[in-house]
Amino acid sequence: PEVISVQDLASRMSERSVDVIKALMKLGIMATANQTIDADTAELVVDELGHKARRVAASDVEIGLGGEEEDAPEDLVPRAPVVAVMGHVDHGKTSLLDALRKSDVVSGEAGGITQHIGAYQVKLASGEMITFLDTPGHEAFTAMRMRGAQVTDIVILVVAADDSVMPQTIEAIKHAKAAEVPIIVAINKCDKPAADPSKVRQELLQHEIFVEDMGGDVLDVEVSAKTGAGLDKLQEAILLQAELLELKANPNRSAHGTVVEAKLETGRGMVGTVLVNRGTLHVGDFFVMGPAMGKVRALLDYRGQNVEEAGPSVPVEVLGIQGTPTAGDDFVVTETESQAKEIASYRQRLDKDKKVTATARGTIEQMFSAI
Ligand code: GDP
Ligand code: MG
Repeated sequence: PEVISVQDLASRMSERSVDVIKALMKLGIMATANQTIDADTAELVVDELGHKARRVAASDVEIGLGGEEEDAPEDLVPRAPVVAVMGHVDHGKTSLLDALRKSDVVSGEAGGITQHIGAYQVKLASGEMITFLDTPGHEAFTAMRMRGAQVTDIVILVVAADDSVMPQTIEAIKHAKAAEVPIIVAINKCDKPAADPSKVRQELLQHEIFVEDMGGDVLDVEVSAKTGAGLDKLQEAILLQAELLELKANPNRSAHGTVVEAKLETGRGMVGTVLVNRGTLHVGDFFVMGPAMGKVRALLDYRGQNVEEAGPSVPVEVLGIQGTPTAGDDFVVTETESQAKEIASYRQRLDKDKKVTATARGTIEQMFSAI
């Protein structure tokens, strides 16, 4: 994708547009000052002109901002799986999320008070952790995917045993498959007399979900969100799937993450929930959050308690945001405040430019007048 205009790139390097155009010509690319070029080309130009380019996101070139260095294998440690619950309306997504939440031993100790922050964690009696996205439904999932964010490691497909496969079940399967996220089938409402789990397994075949009983390798578990039956097996299935995925991250670097929720709250200002993908986020860190920026004033966990830091797969509420982020935006900690400001204002400018419809496409004449 085209990410930066020649003019922008030039100004970010404090070079003249004409020199950038000349560098592009050397690469065999004819461009005008108003034209946009892709990240790979921009990187070559930056290099050509003796500057250093570093990317903050696959779709974005920022100059002088660190973050995309690969982690050495020995720095990677296991992280908790991030799980999203999807399925047809009334099949029990919300009930299941509520029931799973109750098995969190940490909340149990603290008196069971949980906040709605868009994601929560469950610490099992075994000490293992699972992170659940608390926004059931396909919208949140697709909205994030559309912004290039992939936070979900595992999808739990909830299918009511008394209703079987329905239109939104099929839609959820399509979304999960498109995102290449493994599915675990939770056959819910098994407490009901009309429950027919084998019918569910049978019908899933038509949508290329082959559960173990049917000779496939998709994990399936019979549960009841109402009675709690099978929830332990569901958690085991999640941990087993997570093990197969070998989910790892380096906690010892500056934090990167994704915004899962952002809202303006009276008395608190703009509050964003971030799911850290790698690194560790600390109070006092400067950051960019999509087109917004700030300094972490406070971090709160899903129980609403102040914490000093948050590592990989940990959802936290971030206070101290200036601007308006959106779910799916990236979150990157910067070294300095001025870096965060520069990137945020650059992104705001880019957003504004995009809104000006069909910004003057470069013409040959413009190109020559630029030189
Ligand atoms: P959602 O639309 O997928 O979020 O579904 P809900 O969680 O709101 O559940 C829809 C209805 O099914 C509610 O009336 C729940 O009480 C009921 N329900 C959910 N899970 C179960 C279950 O395991 N057994 C029974 N009997 N009812 C359930
Ligand atoms: Mg619901």
